Amino acid sequence: MAVLKPRQGVALAAVLVLLYWNIWFAATAFFLWLAVRELRSDGSRGDGGFYLPYFLSVIALAGACIWPPLSNWRFESKMASVATRLADGRRAQFHCNTVVDMIFSPAQLNPGYTRLETGEIRFQKNACSDMRRYLRAPQEADLNALNALNLITHEAMHVRGEMREPVTECQAVQRNYRAAVLLGVPEPTARRNAADIYLKLYPRRNGTGYFSVDCAPGKALDEHLNDSIWVVMAEDQAAGK
Ligand SMILES: [Zn+2]
Repeated sequence: MAVLKPRQGVALAAVLVLLYWNIWFAATAFFLWLAVRELRSDGSRGDGGFYLPYFLSVIALAGACIWPPLSNWRFESKMASVATRLADGRRAQFHCNTVVDMIFSPAQLNPGYTRLETGEIRFQKNACSDMRRYLRAPQEADLNALNALNLITHEAMHVRGEMREPVTECQAVQRNYRAAVLLGVPEPTARRNAADIYLKLYPRRNGTGYFSVDCAPGKALDEHLNDSIWVVMAEDQAAGK
């Protein structure tokens, strides 16, 4: 069985410190390296030679370590593609800030922000957790999860080109049903989630720079979208839901 020497351990620790926001990649590389060493181990170094259970264990650990970044990559790709569609085709990118990103973030107090030059949307760590939680169980969405849904729609409206916050927020409110459906939420749940955002979350913006009294059906900020939350709510009301 191959054993790590102290100097190699120090080198490994240094690599981990350098790459610690990519710690999963570093850990995967480390376990793969242990697996390769084990494969090449013929016992000539007095370590007992190849040992299958050890080899399988390090392979399994490598697989476990590559899973979080793979799953994150899938999540970020999905969010970027939905934001791009919400932004009417203007290309959006999406990134979940790590702890290190948050230290250098230009908007640490905002749960999310958009770099207009690049169309890059960034969510802080908590907002990303809320978004993942929302996608896992949209039918059980609490206000934080609903906030995360509204946040991706809001940031996509910035990518689309709107900069005035009350207008951006109203554009988001009108598109949250569309956003939820694009994210794969079943339609009845998407309708309820979007209505909850308009009825429960939006009034809380009153008194902040994100609210407008003109954000209502028939008022100045109504974009008359055919899948607007107001259309959805009127349909549900007519159907007696
Ligand atoms: Zn904004």
